Amino acid sequence: MITLKIDSKEIVAEEGLTILQIAKENGIHIPTLCHMDGIHDTHSCRICVVEVEGAKGLVLACESKAVNNMVIRTASEEVLKTRRTIISLMLANGEHNCLCCEASGECSLQSIAFDLGVSKPAFNIERTVKEEVDDSSVMITRDNKRCILCKKCVTVCKDIVCNDVLSLGFRGSDTTIICDDDKPMGESSCVQCGQCVQVCPVGALINKKSIGKAQSWQTTKVRTTCPYCGVGCQQYLHMKGDKIVKVTGVEDGFPNKGRLCVKGRYGYDFIYSKERLTSPLIKENGVFREASWDEALDLVASKFKGIIEKYGSDAVGGISCARSINEDSYQMQKLFRAAFKSRNIDHCARVCHGPTVAGLINSFGTGGMTNSIGEFANTQLLFCIGTNMSEAHPIAATFVKNGVNNGAKLIVVDPRKINLADYADEFAQIKVGSDIAFLNGLMNVLITEDLYDKEFVQDHCENFDVLKEKVLEYPPKRASEISGVSEEQIIKIARMLANNKPGMALYTLGITEHTCGTNNVMSVANLQMLLGNIGKENAGVNPLRGQNNVQGACDMGALPNLYPGYQKVTDSASKAKFEKAWDVEGLPDQVGKMIPDMLKELKTKEMRALYVFGENIVGTEPDISHVISCLEAADFVVCNDIFQTETTQYADVVLPAAAWSEDEGTFTNCERRVSMVRKVKDAPGLAKPNWWIFREIARRFGCDWDSNSGQELWDNEISPLSPPFKGLTYKKIEGDGIQWPCTTEEDPGTQILHVDGNFTRGRGQFMALDWTPPAEVPDEEYPFTLSTGRRLYHYHTRTQTGRCEGLNELLPEEYADISDIDAQRMGIDHNEMIIVKSRRGVVKVKARVSERIQPGLVWMAMHYFENNANWLTNTACDTITKTPEYKACAVAIEKIV
Ligand code: SF4
Repeated sequence: MITLKIDSKEIVAEEGLTILQIAKENGIHIPTLCHMDGIHDTHSCRICVVEVEGAKGLVLACESKAVNNMVIRTASEEVLKTRRTIISLMLANGEHNCLCCEASGECSLQSIAFDLGVSKPAFNIERTVKEEVDDSSVMITRDNKRCILCKKCVTVCKDIVCNDVLSLGFRGSDTTIICDDDKPMGESSCVQCGQCVQVCPVGALINKKSIGKAQSWQTTKVRTTCPYCGVGCQQYLHMKGDKIVKVTGVEDGFPNKGRLCVKGRYGYDFIYSKERLTSPLIKENGVFREASWDEALDLVASKFKGIIEKYGSDAVGGISCARSINEDSYQMQKLFRAAFKSRNIDHCARVCHGPTVAGLINSFGTGGMTNSIGEFANTQLLFCIGTNMSEAHPIAATFVKNGVNNGAKLIVVDPRKINLADYADEFAQIKVGSDIAFLNGLMNVLITEDLYDKEFVQDHCENFDVLKEKVLEYPPKRASEISGVSEEQIIKIARMLANNKPGMALYTLGITEHTCGTNNVMSVANLQMLLGNIGKENAGVNPLRGQNNVQGACDMGALPNLYPGYQKVTDSASKAKFEKAWDVEGLPDQVGKMIPDMLKELKTKEMRALYVFGENIVGTEPDISHVISCLEAADFVVCNDIFQTETTQYADVVLPAAAWSEDEGTFTNCERRVSMVRKVKDAPGLAKPNWWIFREIARRFGCDWDSNSGQELWDNEISPLSPPFKGLTYKKIEGDGIQWPCTTEEDPGTQILHVDGNFTRGRGQFMALDWTPPAEVPDEEYPFTLSTGRRLYHYHTRTQTGRCEGLNELLPEEYADISDIDAQRMGIDHNEMIIVKSRRGVVKVKARVSERIQPGLVWMAMHYFENNANWLTNTACDTITKTPEYKACAVAIEKIV
């Protein structure tokens, strides 16, 4: 520790800190325009000058380390005079007209000039650079005439979100910020995440969507959680009345540390869409008409009652919503189990991470991410397999890139040369569906070269001999033949894994959406146990969940085999506990039907009624024609939604629901963090919270449920009934949320699972797993493999993103990505319309020719209905979880002549 004096205040501080840091810690204000906490300083604004006794001239507080007995003056006459000169120069060196500047009121330059009493520049500088306002980007306006060259935007673009688009261009007085090699922003490689706008201290970078919406002093900030992917970024909604005028990241908040991607920052205005559902709708003679809540709810209740009386409770099924708050999923599973006495409740984890839950419970005992997103930046090695994070989980990808910048090795395994591959030490371009062979090949090398963690395996795992026997059947030569990755690279990657620890394994749907999805997950678990990479910081098996609350919907028991808190429906003690809590008898004690079976059974009439909550299953399930035929065969379909969708067209009753920001509740992100979602406006028209809708239907079944808000549901029911959430209350979730398990009031939550090799199930379980090919492989008639996924600018079937200004402009249509080699061979040009067909359907779509795709592969998404990839995908499922094989089916492509 050192002792020093700042402005006559005696301070004891830690050695090694800068004057700026110590001043800040002690509540002494030193102005700065370029400093960002926790990020290296650019030392460019020089406003933070201070006087240090004995020093020659003034020093920069952001750069100078404090030393023992230092005497510092932060506001002496000389300091203030120098700051005035610097501010004057800045004002003279650009156009800073506060009257018409969007940043007025939150501009640091304006505020420092005000504090220093500088009202106009003392100089007259003629700018030699001709600078037009750059309006070419969809989301961001750039006005370099307002730029003070603080380089904050360059720093965040390069070092934080790691897109490396912005830099300083030209020299001397011509110096200016440029995009790429001085392209207009809209034509550059900018992904329009807007992080540069968030840190710009002046009005040089502005969110276009916010222009003219509000002056900063007219707004209030509300902290909430992003409604898109499973990263669960923390946002501030800047509100003017009930209108969101801007969204920013919560600077010091977990998990995103102030970062947001393009969807998180700009995908908020769907809630104001004129297309929102505002009244219950009942279909009569094929046409929807508006109805009162009582009429619609009475009809739903009477139809379900009638079907249950006639065909039994097994004839009704429900699909819950992984987009909506935890409390809604809890209430829906309760409606099915306690009111309908039906075991058939499921949700879209079935089509994405069902294998994660099943696989990790089997291997470790808990079906969640073992570690946390922030650890990506601090680990020694990142093994990313089947995860295109830069598009599907963009903020998670920034932490991976931070890890690389901090010295971690990066191994990327994917059939496409995805963005992350550009940062990788090793990129293995694997064949679709060959993961187990590849992983077994890696483990073969680790065992035969004696590179595995013997101590961890011996002390904390079981079944090693069985694993060893199996992986010895996959020497690198065989693994290479199946996976397409060379023997040398398999050996090199295995050695890299052994030599760089701790290491983290990260995966997404490239692992789970296969007929062998659960085995794939357990194979990744095998690898990490073999390396001893479990139960430690900066290690573990880390699945990135897809939808914002898919972790939460699993946690809440919207699964056919589990009550809330992962308690088995087949366990009599759990059944008794929930019967007592819900004041009912005869809760179903058998595992219910999964979504694919519910759909099929609508056609065979074993299932008669389907309740679809917030999911657009005509679009997201494989083989759209099949899904439509199932819904058409149903006796009764009811949907809760915020818009009419392709699915609601098949409903008999549509119930209008509150959207994100129209009800208070919680989301749980992929690292098990439960965070608050705030209400900032009322739902439109007659729309109601989903938990209210379910409660009103239950009331018509004689159930009288007390809880009357998200908080009451969580604090009075979910938390007390679920051991992993027992210590979690709404009060505790405030701020950065809490990661479950959190079992007592004092428990701060759990960042890392299975600490010190103490697995939830006791010992980690190795599984002997054989590679199996996809259910449908290319043949003469269908010679290509189709693989599917998500693109950056849209989310699923665009129910939300399609109604947000700008996002459709950024991705206006669907594409089929094909390899340049195939395109050349078939005479297909970039952007040419082609036909892609499978045994199930045919679509016309634009070809996007890319050298990042391997020959024989076609890659598509499900964002646009007409050419949605799911017209083509296969309903073949993972044998354990019935998760469909979206990642592989056989297709043909044709030129349109
Ligand atoms: Fe939202 Fe995911 Fe983007 Fe974060 S990374 S802002 S959670 S979409």
